[in-house]
Amino acid sequence: MIEVHNLVGGKFVKLQETFDDVSPLNDEIIATVPRTKDVDDAVIAAESALDSWSKLTLIERCDWLDKIADELENQIDEVARLESLDTGKPQEVALNVDASRSVYNFRFFADFGRKMTSQTFEMEDAMNFVMRKPVGIVGLISPWNLPLYLLSWKVAPALLMGNTIIAKPSELTPLTAYFLGQVSVKVGLPDGVLNIVQGYGPEVGHAIVEHPKIKAISFTGGTSTGKIVAATAAPMFKKISLELGGKNAAIVMDDADLNLAVPGVVRSSFLNSGQICLCGSRVLIHDSIYDDFMKAYLQQVRDFKIGPVISNQHLEKVLSYIKLAKDEGGEILFGGSAIDKPGAWIQPTVVGNISHMSRTATEEIFGPVVTVHRFKTEAEAISIANCTEYGLSGSVWSKSRGKEIAEKLESGVIWVNTWLHRDLRTPFGGVKNSGVGREGGQWSVDFFSEFSNICVKND
Ligand code: NDP
Repeated sequence: MIEVHNLVGGKFVKLQETFDDVSPLNDEIIATVPRTKDVDDAVIAAESALDSWSKLTLIERCDWLDKIADELENQIDEVARLESLDTGKPQEVALNVDASRSVYNFRFFADFGRKMTSQTFEMEDAMNFVMRKPVGIVGLISPWNLPLYLLSWKVAPALLMGNTIIAKPSELTPLTAYFLGQVSVKVGLPDGVLNIVQGYGPEVGHAIVEHPKIKAISFTGGTSTGKIVAATAAPMFKKISLELGGKNAAIVMDDADLNLAVPGVVRSSFLNSGQICLCGSRVLIHDSIYDDFMKAYLQQVRDFKIGPVISNQHLEKVLSYIKLAKDEGGEILFGGSAIDKPGAWIQPTVVGNISHMSRTATEEIFGPVVTVHRFKTEAEAISIANCTEYGLSGSVWSKSRGKEIAEKLESGVIWVNTWLHRDLRTPFGGVKNSGVGREGGQWSVDFFSEFSNICVKND
């Protein structure tokens, strides 16, 4: 049993009120977690650390990021173990996706910082110098599906640009954020630079968003929570970055290489039990190859190993969508049931013969459930892909038309003949109800910066 504590001002703080962290693998209680309700102490700590942290040179802060990356890498198996315990994902996914990327996030932004240059704009009679400053104290709120992966994706650029941090992981997955706190203390990160508070979203999450001294909020989570975050932060003119939900399409054209497309689409349907915001939960297949594709797809779905979903409550939500799919006339082509053992286990589920406008095919389920749809023309595929309120990602599988089709999709991130192939320098984020703003490389460092332009008139 792990006792999770908050990290405030470089010290681990125990709270009287706690709640249990339950593993979805077997319903066992694995940790007790502090139920934080306000962030006043964390703000004081972050405020007192801000001046000295922001005055370090960029290169000094890059070195700090590398120190954190080194220590996380030394303990990468422990990161993977904790993530697997907390989320239920298979150990190899926790290692190869979550833990590796968490290390790389710090490494990437350290390297990125070392290559940054300052901007100037020359006029005939003057020179403009663009000055970057930290935003100040920033609030980072992350979800449970890729806990440290997504938290470190925010922590690294925020630290790089000289901000101090108040971070809140999901109440369902507190362990690796706590571990990151331990790592930061071990490497000697100055007190108060990284504060980590645990608890419930509407309590401590809301306290972060509404605190007047926290100047920017980087939030990843559901669209409905994003609306609350935006409504709370906007009247204070905080900077906000919102990475929200999706209902992404995988389009398989008649000229797709099925040897590539079938395993690629299976992976995009079910990796992390379909609980990745980028997962392709709607598979659109050209009529002329539908039967061949589906035969191979269903065979490979059968062999694809998934873990449980995040919690019993989430399992109920996913099961309610499977019931809805049947009510809406859908046919369960594979799976469809919970697995009768302790934990939140469910079969990967494929639903066919259902309208692309049904609730099942347009609302985010965020679990191992996909709908499959036939189309006859490219225009029809594009229209189906664009028909939801979301616009996060998509994939197109075609030997000849991929880029042209991708250009017509209303999504922030689109892959052609691949999926989840990430270059961290590129902009990441959604359009429509999938979010506001972009993260990644330059976009992250810009979000965590304030700019002043200094115009100096020539003599
Ligand atoms: P939630 O929106 O429920 O929660 C996200 C985070 O916000 C959690 O830390 C949560 O805390 C916190 N939170 C909840 N309510 C509030 C509030 N009122 N004020 C401030 N913070 C709050 O999302 P999930 O954790 O369920 O994650 C799944 C969602 O995240 C899916 O919709 C998925 O698509 C999306 N997502 C988007 C990504 C993207 O990059 N676009 C990437 C990954 C996921 P607590 O858990 O304690 O409630």
